[in-house]
Amino acid sequence: METLRSYLSGSWYEASSGFEELVNPTTEEILARASAEGADLAHALHFARNRSGPALRAMTFAQRAEMLKGLAKAIHASREELLDLGVRNGGNTRSDAKFDVDGASSTLAAYADLGASLGDGRFLVDGDPIPMGRSSRLAGQHVLVPRRGVAVLINAFNFPAWGLAEKAACAWLAGVPVLVKPATPTALLTVRLVEKLLATNLLPEGALQLLVGAPGDLLCHLGPQDVVSFTGSSRTGTLIRTHPQLAARSVRVNVEADSLNASILGPDVEPGSEVYAAFLADIVRDVTQKAGQKCTAIRRIFVPIERLDSVREELVERLAAIRVGDPCRDTVQMGPVATAAQLRSVREGIRTLLASERVEIATGGPDRPSVLEGVEGDRGFFVAPTLLVARDAVAARPVHEHEVFGPCTTLMPYDGTAQQAASLVALGEGGLVASIATNDRDFARDLILELAPFHGRVYLNSEKSVGVAPGPGTVFPQLLHGGPGRAGGGEELGGLRGLTGYMQRVALQGFGPLIDAIAAGGKRGG
Ligand code: NAP
Repeated sequence: METLRSYLSGSWYEASSGFEELVNPTTEEILARASAEGADLAHALHFARNRSGPALRAMTFAQRAEMLKGLAKAIHASREELLDLGVRNGGNTRSDAKFDVDGASSTLAAYADLGASLGDGRFLVDGDPIPMGRSSRLAGQHVLVPRRGVAVLINAFNFPAWGLAEKAACAWLAGVPVLVKPATPTALLTVRLVEKLLATNLLPEGALQLLVGAPGDLLCHLGPQDVVSFTGSSRTGTLIRTHPQLAARSVRVNVEADSLNASILGPDVEPGSEVYAAFLADIVRDVTQKAGQKCTAIRRIFVPIERLDSVREELVERLAAIRVGDPCRDTVQMGPVATAAQLRSVREGIRTLLASERVEIATGGPDRPSVLEGVEGDRGFFVAPTLLVARDAVAARPVHEHEVFGPCTTLMPYDGTAQQAASLVALGEGGLVASIATNDRDFARDLILELAPFHGRVYLNSEKSVGVAPGPGTVFPQLLHGGPGRAGGGEELGGLRGLTGYMQRVALQGFGPLIDAIAAGGKRGG
């Protein structure tokens, strides 16, 4: 069994106690063990702030971009090995693993392109010069400069590659070193990825540190120039947000948490149309991809009441036909959930939703699927693709409050108006993405504007975009990822906006020509 090591202060650290085991969720074979007990985390943070911070800040955007490009290539060069780890440690099908690993390399590559376009600057200029008063002698200008601390990236178990890359790409391009703490159950892939990235020798020493295992006293050593960028459950997000050290020292915290993403079928969309087919396909993909363990997965489906039975029928047919089992097999379309704890949580979650008024199982459910391909005995953490139906969307409160982080979604009726659809979606109290399938411009406009305050992204599918649209579950580096309320209130990615989380926005105020001369050394884009 492999013992996973952390990479801290320029060397590999192996703990001697406090281990947690990592398993293959299909076979329950133990693959590795991880612990960071005894690691000197205060020193690792100090090392990053003092060694790699200055080195990164000395690089221009173009040089940082070149570094990102090389890192993206290194991931691509190790693609097969990394995909295999996604299958073995994450329970991913090969296609699921590609979503994670290729997502990591393409996000780094996208930020490399963005960085290259910024050229030889080292800070960003935000907006135009602002005349202050009547005289041109006095002016104001906002700029963004890299923070002097460390970006502590704490990630969820479901994206061990992309989760690292999407945060680190922004921090590095901004000029800030990172310390990555992957979720322990699927850390094997992150460890291998970090090994590959370090082996490129492209990163200044200390710009990438890795902590595998429990975080210990990590947060207690953070200060006002550091950033915590967290992805995971609301529960852990709240613990981090309210951590006394982070609160007392005003450490910047970004939280990406749970989300009860909604998909709404417009009343104009006819069964059998392309848009209707895309609406169904997006749901089936989101329930089954990564066994539903995707923060952007559709958890709530709203259809006009007269479509409830036909949509139910179509989804049952498609979901019941999904081949579940050993993701190593080419024929298998959905693997297990990632851990035994996750399996318990998904089963309990489905039961919680079922306990609410007028909610029933259309297909799947909390029990182990009766047919599994290539799986021995009762091994593995399997759940069937599950569709629940809540006939009274308002009465089914748990459906709007409880995220079942697995292959489960709930179908509900609405009265066909944008107003009611919006008010039902809002019961989820904030999400990452809401999607709408409609060709009716008025319905789309009314609904988009109602949904917008509660979401980080609103995805519209219509006959004009069907066929080229990737589905709401795919996060693009160009667009914002995050959402208010239950989704954590965070913001990531969104092109250059993603860098601002790791930079300090400062208003320069004084003699206009001097301010202009300083701003001329930066790059517009803040
Ligand atoms: P989790 O249990 O909250 O863990 C997330 C991360 O926090 C892990 O690295 C975990 O480490 C770490 N952690 C736990 N306790 C901590 C503490 N006291 N201080 C610092 N770090 C701590 O979440 P998960 O089960 O891995 O992920 C599933 C959840 O993530 C779901 O709720 C899902 O909605 C959410 N998610 C959200 C997004 C998004 O972008 N909004 C994306 C993906 C997932 P250990 O593993 O070592 O405990």
